[in-house]
Amino acid sequence: EEVVNRIAAGEIIQRPANALKELIENSLDARATNIIITVKAGGLKYLQIQDNGTGIRSDNLDIVCERFTTSKLQQYEDLQEISTYGFRGEALASISYISHLTILTKTAADKCAYKGSYENGKLKGPIKACAGNNGTQITVEDLFYNVIARKKSLRSPAEEYTHIMEVVGGYAIHNSHVGFTLKKFGENTDIKTAMKSSVVENIRIIHGNSIARELLEIKLKDDTLQMSLHGYVTNVNYSHKKGAVLLFINHRLVDSQSIRKAVDSVYCTYLPKNAHAFVYLSIELDPRNVDVNVHPTKHEVQFLYEEQIIEKIKSCIESKLLSCNS
Ligand code: ADP
Ligand code: MG
Repeated sequence: EEVVNRIAAGEIIQRPANALKELIENSLDARATNIIITVKAGGLKYLQIQDNGTGIRSDNLDIVCERFTTSKLQQYEDLQEISTYGFRGEALASISYISHLTILTKTAADKCAYKGSYENGKLKGPIKACAGNNGTQITVEDLFYNVIARKKSLRSPAEEYTHIMEVVGGYAIHNSHVGFTLKKFGENTDIKTAMKSSVVENIRIIHGNSIARELLEIKLKDDTLQMSLHGYVTNVNYSHKKGAVLLFINHRLVDSQSIRKAVDSVYCTYLPKNAHAFVYLSIELDPRNVDVNVHPTKHEVQFLYEEQIIEKIKSCIESKLLSCNS
């Protein structure tokens, strides 16, 4: 059974950045306003996330890494909505099957912090009282140490680190009210955003002044498609080399080939050769219309009315570019 769980976990968590994304979402769910991430060897050796959120009650620490342990079901209105968030209570369990996981946490009601180490979904040894700040610190060491196939297929720590930068940069832009810090262990900070910053300011910090200067805001609401969109696109008057399509659907960082293609097709007629657009889109859809069959940790997302929604996005970006450059 352990082998089966390990294989399943290796499918869900394909690289350090996938694990980190789950951990960041947990910190955000715990209403953290400051999140500090420290990494060794692209997260393969060491990945730590420290937040100042609600913390985990010590009497929950023994089960927190068991599969399907979640404290979040009561937040969701109906079963349909729960299922759109996919498998609940699987992230910590999955990570614990394929790494050495340590949780140090303190709630405001507790006098001290508590620390537990986990393996294969279970607590390893006793929970210890210790010093610590309010919030949760999760340390993931030796990720994939027992998943031989996964270790081989992974690229260099440097490449894993670029994926981590993308995830942290993306969440920092999208959650501009939360402060994010990313650093390699013992080295300088690579990303640092402030609490109560703004989306544009964080795009400037992460992608540079030249991109931030040319941003155009887009907004769209469509009741028949039950969608709303808020975002920033680059003005093609000042196109640049380093592009990116940053896409959030219902506040989750996702990828969608079809949205990516649509954005490319809008820009291809405007952009000079070798130039790329920077596009940040935050789309909110009725959760019932987002495909429940795609595993939440999979990057690619599917949703209903895709064609119509993509047409809307395209024409929204296009008319913005036209109105500003005519
Ligand atoms: P889920 O997020 O789907 O509930 P996870 O496996 O990601 O499942 O997390 C399990 C549970 O552990 C959460 O429901 C939450 O109660 C607790 N938890 C995990 N990370 C944090 C955190 N950073 N702060 C507070 N609680 C946390
Ligand atoms: Mg989670």
